[in-house]
Amino acid sequence: MKKSGKEYTIIVGCGRLGASLANALSDGEENVCIVDKNPEAFRKLMPSFAGMTVIGDATDFEVWKDINVSGAAAVITVTNHDNTNILVAQMVREVFHVEHVIARLYDPERECVFQALGIETICPAVLSSQAIHGLLEATH
Ligand code: AMP
Repeated sequence: MKKSGKEYTIIVGCGRLGASLANALSDGEENVCIVDKNPEAFRKLMPSFAGMTVIGDATDFEVWKDINVSGAAAVITVTNHDNTNILVAQMVREVFHVEHVIARLYDPERECVFQALGIETICPAVLSSQAIHGLLEATH
């Protein structure tokens, strides 16, 4: 942990996206806590990663008792299951009142539910489609 105060980010899911984000934030001197149910997942973190790792299923409320959630400026939930990301995002928003919550959603049709709850979403299919469209536009 490097900085103090509110600049503290919790990432749920240490997969390809979660680990890459955690490494980048840690490199940028941000305080990071990353949660994954599979301890092997933390191997994706760089040796220089200076954050905290928590092993546990993020849908289990007990796991959150070991984490300073109320001290977090943001929670980013990027597990590989939309339902898990939905549940975690709602829990941290409604129980712990985290202001900034971002969830990855594979299914773009669920985005409207999140927008109503004030939760930001990242949808890889939508982002990829926009990027491909941009590449096509640039070459025509
Ligand atoms: P990826 O598919 O590479 O983005 O990886 C997703 C990560 O989310 C994996 O490391 C999984 O172990 C992790 N994951 C999936 N479900 C949960 C959960 N309920 N709690 C914590 N981590 C999870």
